[in-house]
Amino acid sequence: MAPFLFITDLDHTLVGDDDAMMQLNQHLSRHRDEYGTKIVYSTGRSPSLYQELLSEKPLLSPDAVVTGVGTGIYYDGSTVPDRLWYDQLNPGWQRDRVLAVTNLFADLEPQPEDEQNDYKASFFLDAAIAPDLLPQIEASLRAEGLQVNLVYSGGEHLDILPQGANKGLAMVFLRQQWNFAPERTVACGDSGNDLSMFHSGAERGIIVGNAMAELRDWHDENPSPNRYLATSHCAAGILEGLGYFGFLQLNG
Ligand SMILES: [Mg+2]
Repeated sequence: MAPFLFITDLDHTLVGDDDAMMQLNQHLSRHRDEYGTKIVYSTGRSPSLYQELLSEKPLLSPDAVVTGVGTGIYYDGSTVPDRLWYDQLNPGWQRDRVLAVTNLFADLEPQPEDEQNDYKASFFLDAAIAPDLLPQIEASLRAEGLQVNLVYSGGEHLDILPQGANKGLAMVFLRQQWNFAPERTVACGDSGNDLSMFHSGAERGIIVGNAMAELRDWHDENPSPNRYLATSHCAAGILEGLGYFGFLQLNG
């Protein structure tokens, strides 16, 4: 067996079925010890909400954590973010000017201060009006010359990110840092903010069986042999996918 880069979303992907997660943890932990596989969590959570989850669930210590939908990268349990990653986020990012535009949209309700950071402006946006409003918001930002990534997820969260930030770009950054081939990289997710990890290239993707329609519909419309839609939910779906792609030998 050879090492691989394992990247997973947390809420409703890795986390959601404790028994299945313990089983997956055993496989991944053994693979890391024996072959040097790397484990990365990629979450919409802020560093503080991630710490909260650590106190609630028996997660493995990851080799890196990507927080805030790709706006922070932390290695080996450190609380000091990777400065190199910020160098990639800075070009063209003007958060104040983004907020000047979003202030014009009364339907955008800012998320709590804890969920904001220097590289992200986050809002609640009702799913019923999102399809109409998102193109308008995007057009207004472009009209101001602002190049950003709009990530809508969970049927309620809108994150406006620097052009250089999202979960998919963070995945590619780590893959290159650690010299993993795309074919030896696998990402797992359940919702809209995971989508950027699934359309980058030859990286493998696992969509868990409980995935939201916003991700599932996109997958149906953009099928790829590099992506697997599991029938099992959460960590059981991840295991199913890792077996499907041959990253783990699950029989015997
Ligand atoms: Mg999730």
